[in-house]
Order: sequence, then structure tokens, then C-alpha cells
Amino acid sequence: MAELRLPFSRPPAFDSVDDERLHLKQRLAASFRMFGRFGFSEGVAGHITARDPEFPETFWVNPFGMNFSHIRVSDLIRVDHHGEVVEGEYHVNTAAFAIHSQVHAARPDVVAAAHAHSIYGKSWSSLGRTLDPLTQDSCAFYGDHVLFDDFTGVVLDTEEGKRIAHALGDSKAAILRNHGNLTVGKSVDEAVWWFITMERTCQAQLLAEAAGTPVLIDEEAAALTATQVGSDGAGWFSYQPLYEWITRAEPDLFD
Ligand SMILES: [Zn+2]
Repeated sequence: MAELRLPFSRPPAFDSVDDERLHLKQRLAASFRMFGRFGFSEGVAGHITARDPEFPETFWVNPFGMNFSHIRVSDLIRVDHHGEVVEGEYHVNTAAFAIHSQVHAARPDVVAAAHAHSIYGKSWSSLGRTLDPLTQDSCAFYGDHVLFDDFTGVVLDTEEGKRIAHALGDSKAAILRNHGNLTVGKSVDEAVWWFITMERTCQAQLLAEAAGTPVLIDEEAAALTATQVGSDGAGWFSYQPLYEWITRAEPDLFD
């Protein structure tokens, strides 16, 4: 009998920093296309960042004002810890720098961070509550997300970004009250998967609470399920079918 296989590769190992950077940028461009398809854009809001493998105090991010659905690998810009664009030909969103630079600085383990003003995330954020373990998928966030219980306007200075990073702590996600969600991961794949599944978790809880009184998963089962669906590996793994889909549907993202 033939050996069974998965329709995608295992997490890659790299021979050179150039290969690793290209991989990172391809994952990043693909993730913006996914965000576009999922309807996560709201004007110029939203950003996903990825720490550069050679210059870890800098990160790659989307050009300010470019539609998620148009972003190609060659459009991505690299920004240093002063907010200067050191590679690429576009401006950086000040809010992207203010939030993400502080998250990357506070969390050396974090390679990527994702944030957008998606409709269910921002609706849920206005309730000022963390998410409950209502579904198997929601358990990815059980005991592993926080509420940033403040809103003072558009985040334009790094002091506010520092406060968000402090609230995030060691978690994989933060609900920024009256704003939207922020997720992080050890890979672009992981951070983006957490964002997508968190958005749908917010949607599920909003729907369930609008329809009735949901039954919560008990603590023991939620904690066990968190280890099954909420690990770094599970986050990376869950992203792969989406990557296969978007790269087949929109191969120009590689340009
Ligand atoms: Zn925002």
C-alpha cells in the first residue's frame, strides 16, 4: 500500500536567511489576501507584521493604504524600531508601528502579530469581556487571551503600544476594547490562524448569546481541549489548508 501523506509540507527548515525571509514574506502576502477574502479590511485599518530573521529588531508589514487583496510579496515594507521604512517604497501605518513594535519588543518569542477591524471581533470587543469556552474551537483561547480594558483613541504613540503589550503578557491574543482583536504567534501561519479562528469564535458567541443561553464547556474539558487545538503546532497546522487555497486562487501574490 502507498505511504499516506499530507497535502502540504511540514514546517520548513532553511539553508539561508534569504530563503527564510522569502518564505516569511510569501506567508505574509498570502495572509493579506486571506484577510481580503474574509472581509477583514476596513478602509486603511489593519496590519500583520513579521519579524525579519536577519535583523530581528525590524519587521515586515503591509504598505499603508494598500488594499489587502492587492498585496504582493514585492509590496511589503520593512520597518525599524524607530518607525523608519528601511526597505520598500511605501509608507508605514503609524498605528501598525505603535502597536506592533512594542509587541515584538516585549515578546522575543513572537515572530508575527495580526490585527484588523473585522466586524465580529470589534463587535465583541465592545462588550468588554473575554471569550467563553462555548465550542471546541473557542478552547484555543481558553486561559490564553486577555482583555485590554481601555480605549483612548487611535493608537499613535508607542506608550499606548507598550500598555497593550503589557496587557497581552504571555498570551496568544488580546481583545482591545472598543477596537478589535490582536493575535500573535511563533510564525506568520500561527498568528494569522489565531486571528481568523478568533474572529469566528467572536461570531459564534455573538450568535449563540443572541439566540439563547449557551452551555459552557466545563473547566477540565476546556483545559484539555486547549492543549489539543491551542498549541503552537495546532495553529501552524490549521493554517496550511488556507495557504494551499489562497496560493492556488491568487498566484500573483508571489510577484
Ligand atoms: Zn486598529
